[in-house]
Amino acid sequence: RAKSAGGNRFEIADPEADARAITRHGLTNALPAALERGEFFIEYQPLVHLGDGSVHGAEALVRWCHPQHGVLGPDRFIPLAERTGLIVPLGRWVLQEAVRQARFWSRRHTDGGPLRINVNLSPAQLQHPGLVADTVDVLERSGLEPGALCLEVTESALIGADEERLGPLRQLAEMGVDIALDDFGTGYSNLANLRRLPVSVLKLDRSFTQGMQRHPADPVDLKIVEGIVSLAHSLELAVTVEGVETAAQAEQLREIGCDTAQGWYYARPGAPDRIHTLVLADAV
Ligand code: C2E
Ligand code: MG
Ligand code: MG
Ligand code: MG
Repeated sequence: RAKSAGGNRFEIADPEADARAITRHGLTNALPAALERGEFFIEYQPLVHLGDGSVHGAEALVRWCHPQHGVLGPDRFIPLAERTGLIVPLGRWVLQEAVRQARFWSRRHTDGGPLRINVNLSPAQLQHPGLVADTVDVLERSGLEPGALCLEVTESALIGADEERLGPLRQLAEMGVDIALDDFGTGYSNLANLRRLPVSVLKLDRSFTQGMQRHPADPVDLKIVEGIVSLAHSLELAVTVEGVETAAQAEQLREIGCDTAQGWYYARPGAPDRIHTLVLADAV
């Protein structure tokens, strides 16, 4: 942190914070060229039906293979891309690539319905006027049916959103695209508010699943999840749980009536052929 002490405004009080700021600055500047050079890639993590363990779909999670720093997770660069606006072309690339991949899986997996693909949208993408047109374009060019696409938006991106802000999401929902509320439970939206959002899926944040693991004997966390699930179902929302790491969690969540799950217990995010193999195994 640079302290403004006397005339010396740039005295370094915290060299580590300074180094982090320099790295952030460097990463931010490198983003546009990285997109052009194709340094981003997508890992896919399966979403599984809790009922029978079959694959429901996959979430696309972007990574940056940086020439000096190695593979960087989205938490390292999405906030930077968000701030500079690069998230719009980057997000468009992710959408296009993930939808193309999903279309490829669907061709190989004709019975059992299409494999669904979940793509994260950040707040800047939601506000971008080209969102609907870009999405329609990507779907049309790939031939993937809109019902196979699920766009994930966080609670915080929708908090206080007026009808104008919600319009594009509503349009997409009317086309058949699913909208999921990601990291549900970490924001401040109240449950009654859900009724006015064009959302059809709730993704319960990992913190709930972690809570269940911390207190296996404590029924309170389970009661909370149970309450959310029954309310979500009464609003005709499907419930996905994030961060399932153990068989015991999966079993409890299945008993509670959660619909789908995602987590290391099933698979870590990985290369697309991994999903392909899982789906083909299911189909047999
Ligand atoms: P998210 O959408 O909530 O994605 C789930 C995150 O939880 C992923 O982290 C995933 O690797 C991690 N995860 C999955 N299962 C488990 C588990 O069992 N245990 C634990 N501890 N973690 C698990 P990741 O890949 O680092 O992504 C972080 C966040 O970055 C995502 O959170 C999402 O908000 C954002 N993100 C990722 N890809 C994109 C993208 O293409 N566009 C935008 N706008 N955001 C993205
Ligand atoms: Mg997500
Ligand atoms: Mg999430
Ligand atoms: Mg999360």
